[in-house]
Amino acid sequence: MATAKRDYYDVLGVPRNASPEDIKKAFRRLAMKYHPDRNKEDGAETRFKEIGEAYEVLSDAEKRPAYDRFGHAGLQGFDFGRGFEGTDLGGFGDIFDAFFGGTAGGRRQREAQRGADRRVDIEIGFEDGAFGCENEIEVERVERCGRCAGAGSEPGSQAARCPACEGAGQVRRVSRSFFGQFVNIATCAQCRGEGRIVTNPCNSCRGSGRERRKRALAVKIPAGVNDGSRMRLNGEGDAGMNGGSPGHLYVYINVRPHAFFTREEDDLVYELEMNPAQAALGFETTVPTLEGDAAALKAPPGTQNGRLFVLKGKGVPRLHGGGRGDLLVRANVVIPTDLSDEQRELLRQLAESFGTPVSNGDKSILGKIKDALT
Ligand SMILES: [Zn+2]
Ligand SMILES: [Zn+2]
Repeated sequence: MATAKRDYYDVLGVPRNASPEDIKKAFRRLAMKYHPDRNKEDGAETRFKEIGEAYEVLSDAEKRPAYDRFGHAGLQGFDFGRGFEGTDLGGFGDIFDAFFGGTAGGRRQREAQRGADRRVDIEIGFEDGAFGCENEIEVERVERCGRCAGAGSEPGSQAARCPACEGAGQVRRVSRSFFGQFVNIATCAQCRGEGRIVTNPCNSCRGSGRERRKRALAVKIPAGVNDGSRMRLNGEGDAGMNGGSPGHLYVYINVRPHAFFTREEDDLVYELEMNPAQAALGFETTVPTLEGDAAALKAPPGTQNGRLFVLKGKGVPRLHGGGRGDLLVRANVVIPTDLSDEQRELLRQLAESFGTPVSNGDKSILGKIKDALT
């Protein structure tokens, strides 16, 4: 710190005969300009400290005359501001904020506030999810009041300036401190920081400027959505406050199950039932498609239970484009349980030709023993 200290009047850019009011004004202007929260340039912080130090001296009824007469040397007898020395900038910054209500302080109440997000759940049919649809959804949300356009006052009347804070939205409590005047800023309780008081409240919203409304919104559901899909409608949530942007509306989609298709990602699965004769000998048939028509299918001889037949591109359109999934036809060999006498006889002959044992008729061996005993 060997460099010569700058003249405090030069630092604040005021003449030596400047009034306390001029000094205060100059300090405010410069402190605003060099406050480290606002000014990220090199040297701004040093400059800011220098300004604070100059102001501390020139705003003080005892230090200023001493400085005027003896320069920097004249101040040596004074207990100098800890806040301006070393790295204790934080302390001064806090006081600065309180003093101006400045960078992050009391004005917060009037800052723009984003509206809340909303959620709505809808249920759509299986095909609507696959191919997309237009849907009308109903949402209850907070909107800007239509009658007063959000101002809160009856049309034709104006909100009055708050008498408690004179429109500032904040009230100041002044106390003396080491740095001189210490000003504590609080949000005005009477107007809750708005600075204005609605004297003739809007008949529709009673002065709040916002109202709850039920809205029907047309929503385009894209092809390929699945059960549990979520859509975001930007800006369709609650209205913001003080000019803030609106929230979003999230649409949660439930898809009803299909009568005979199940869905695995973008593929459809269809269970094709067949009896053992069909599975063994092969057959030709048709299977339903999602469009409602029929597709030809050939099950070859020896079709095993669980075998999958893939019908390319007959599945669900992919959500973000890029074609469609497949229709997977799964062979489900169903063993008959209700045979006619003729069918039973044919199957017994079949078993004989395989050389495999089968039970005799529809009665178990145990049943026959029971018959013999009675
Ligand atoms: Zn209104
Ligand atoms: Zn007020």
